[in-house]
Amino acid sequence: MARYDAIIIGTGQAGPFLARRLAATGLHVAVIERGLIGGTCTNTGCTPTKTLVASAYAAHLARRASDYGVVIDGAVGVDMRRVKARKDAIVEAKRKRGETSLRTAENCDLILGHARFVSPHAVRVGEAVLEAERLFINVGGRPVVPPIPGLAASGYLTNHSILDLEELPRRLVIFGGSYIGLEFAQVFRRFGSEVLVIEGGPQLVPREDPEIAAAIHGILRDEGIEILLDAKILRMEQRGDHAIAAEIARGASTMTVEGSHLLVATGRRPNTDDLDLPAAGVQTDAKGFIQVDDHLRTSVPGIWALGDCNGRGAFTHTSYNDFGIVADNLLDGGTRSVADRIPAYALYIDPPLGRVGVTETEARRRGRPLLVGRLPMTQVARAIEKGETQGLMKIVVDRETQRVLGAAILGTGGDEVIHVIMTAMYANAPFTLLQREMGIHPTVSELIPTLLEQLEAV
Ligand SMILES: Cc1cc2nc3c(=O)[nH]c(=O)nc-3n(C[C@H](O)[C@H](O)[C@H](O)COP(=O)(O)OP(=O)(O)OC[C@H]3O[C@@H](n4cnc5c(N)ncnc54)[C@H](O)[C@@H]3O)c2cc1C
Repeated sequence: MARYDAIIIGTGQAGPFLARRLAATGLHVAVIERGLIGGTCTNTGCTPTKTLVASAYAAHLARRASDYGVVIDGAVGVDMRRVKARKDAIVEAKRKRGETSLRTAENCDLILGHARFVSPHAVRVGEAVLEAERLFINVGGRPVVPPIPGLAASGYLTNHSILDLEELPRRLVIFGGSYIGLEFAQVFRRFGSEVLVIEGGPQLVPREDPEIAAAIHGILRDEGIEILLDAKILRMEQRGDHAIAAEIARGASTMTVEGSHLLVATGRRPNTDDLDLPAAGVQTDAKGFIQVDDHLRTSVPGIWALGDCNGRGAFTHTSYNDFGIVADNLLDGGTRSVADRIPAYALYIDPPLGRVGVTETEARRRGRPLLVGRLPMTQVARAIEKGETQGLMKIVVDRETQRVLGAAILGTGGDEVIHVIMTAMYANAPFTLLQREMGIHPTVSELIPTLLEQLEAV
């Protein structure tokens, strides 16, 4: 039995930071990883997909070169092997940095293998049993594969396996019209594939306000992406080596769509089913997320859960913020709470969607008196100058308290500009503060006061 002061399971976006922080205080720490160091974000999530988004943007801009008076002689082509090589190099460098920092940290042992609980304070990894007073679970999640007849035999791709493609799909069919599915849809369309997105609900990105979803729909449709809404997939079929077919129900009618490749992007589930959590007594909810309080403590004293597996966030920044909360509370006498953070994320289509706080739909559901303002990106000088005027900005304010409840910026730079509003929300400042701000010209952010001029009671 190997004894440690702390055991961390998983090297996602919380575990390694916590390991180094704990080890720096002199605690003896074990970090266990069954797969690639760095977890989803580094290896199969944010980093690789954003390199593809960058390659796709370059291809898109090159095709639009003449709009800017730039002459490219000949057709614009995409070499998937070089796109993948660039992606692999960036991912590998990030993974190596993470691995080196863990291997060289004093008081920290990196142990490769699959951890399973044997008791509330011990885990087994292969033949070894490790024991500690404090355990931190950062095991992340994996793609959900829906139980569609014929799917397993159809050779489908996930967000993981699609990253290994070295050839361009002739026709990519994507199940799921939410964040992950749409990023891949635009990327592969811009690389040159035909793309069909099949979404079960009545709009893309079901969590967003209908007008934001409609604007996203329009942007993708204008690039030639086919989109089927309200579509239920009944069964899949493999047709020869290079074709798949899906039978789809829409209302009372059925249809068959075909493609060369199929990407399943219908959500993610936590990696908690193979941890032997009952041996520790750690409670999960019906979907397998580990139940935690606002300080990320599980039902068992001495065990915390961080990152996607606790169901309190599904992003790299939420996982990293979990690390900050746990570390500050444990080591610095902090009282930080998950309840204090404001939801925020981005959808990395181009132009990107930056989001903070609640949607108008959610704010209405809460019954607050509201002010809502909108501004199309066609009125933003910087967007016009860049030739990127798609999208809109939207802001939702509480009419009584004057506090911003949420915002969406779908437009060039939207993923960055949203932080201006986010900072005002964290400062609990009235919207009038933002209204009086003198922004730099020409930026997208300078139009936030103008956006606020559009506020109307709803
Ligand atoms: C395609 C895609 C794109 C994304 N893009 C973004 C984005 O742009 N921005 C953003 O903020 N988020 C994005 N995300 C989400 C983001 O990747 C995750 O939220 C983030 O990685 C946080 O994960 P985590 O820390 O919970 O754990 P993970 O990063 O999932 O890591 C968990 C680790 O635990 C290991 N593990 C699991 N079980 C065990 C076990 N029993 N024993 C030992 N080790 C184990 C796994 O091998 C893994 O390495 C994206 C996700 C996907 C899939």
